[in-house]
Amino acid sequence: MQSVTFEHVTKYFGQSKAVNDAHFKIEEGEFFTLLGPSGCGKTTLLRTIAGFYKQEEGNLYFGERLMNDVPTHNRDIGMVFQNYAIFPHMTVFENVAYGLRARKVNKKEIEERVMEALEMVELGHLRDRAPSNMSGGQQQRIALARAIVIRPSLLLMDEPLSNLDAKLRIKMRSDIRKLQKDLNITTIYVTHDQEEALAVSDRIAVLSEGRVQQIGLPHEIYSYPSNRFVANFIGTSNFVRGTSGPYSAATGSAQIGVQGVSKTMKLAAAYEGEVLISVRPENVGVAVQRGHEEELPGEIETVTFLGEKVSYGIRLADGQRLEASVHSVEPRRMLREKMSVFVDLRLDRAVIFDETGKEAVY
Ligand code: ATP
Repeated sequence: MQSVTFEHVTKYFGQSKAVNDAHFKIEEGEFFTLLGPSGCGKTTLLRTIAGFYKQEEGNLYFGERLMNDVPTHNRDIGMVFQNYAIFPHMTVFENVAYGLRARKVNKKEIEERVMEALEMVELGHLRDRAPSNMSGGQQQRIALARAIVIRPSLLLMDEPLSNLDAKLRIKMRSDIRKLQKDLNITTIYVTHDQEEALAVSDRIAVLSEGRVQQIGLPHEIYSYPSNRFVANFIGTSNFVRGTSGPYSAATGSAQIGVQGVSKTMKLAAAYEGEVLISVRPENVGVAVQRGHEEELPGEIETVTFLGEKVSYGIRLADGQRLEASVHSVEPRRMLREKMSVFVDLRLDRAVIFDETGKEAVY
């Protein structure tokens, strides 16, 4: 087990910063995910940990040890890639044994450790098969066994599940999570899939354009995104324009208003002026009759039946659009297009940003 610390790490390609001032710590035994859209710098950050790249600025530590100039083969890491990178001409057993033979481990120990790793990924019975005629999921398990058999202090995984079909991905991600907890090995996992990140991680770092936008527990990132990018990237968000003020220092709260209707809300900062309110579709209520005064008048524009849920596209009286996601009801009670409705924005579950969306002020 090992902790990993980035101290103001910046990595350039030419003039552009693929990683811009990474400054955080991954704790021992953590399952830590680097999450973000294509090109945000997550692979570059992972390759910097592996020692394939060296940062131009800042320091990288494993535990207390400065790693800036330590070559990859002395970093004690196991790696799993998207494309498996297994040897097709070797048996499953030989693929997994490869790293141990390179380390001159004796024959008896190789036999024991390879079988132990293969049992962990449920491939013990296929030890003598050739990987080339095995499924993608099985090949990825071989790659996983090969990474853990050397008992590295750090496991790095770069989009390991993206070549698998959707159902297998879900099965594999819970298998990987369980294996990681059983082995208690610090794991750094790269993905662009937010659902996957929420499902497997202890903590997540959300990246955009080389910069860490937020680090937190999955439910923190989901419920309390620190800016508009994170709110939009993780799950679905409505963004509604409103106002904040007057702010009361005594109570730490302000009136948050939308379309002339306002609610008192606690704010983290004294903020008055235009705000952007981010509210999840599941936190938008919609009804034909007005339940209370704080509801906003609007009209149903679209109705999308999704089985368990129905998604309503709604236009508020001031022209702003938002989406409400509600549990399905019997067909005759479903709302229809062009119906006049009242919308309940559950502001207690909303996140309030400054008007640019750069910063949360709730
Ligand atoms: P993806 O999910 O598409 O792999 P990513 O988030 O992993 O994306 P990186 O591969 O880390 O992103 O790339 C970050 C930025 O650095 C991108 O703008 C990319 O074009 C650039 N980049 C990455 N590798 C190189 C390289 N070897 N030479 C020049 N630029 C590079």
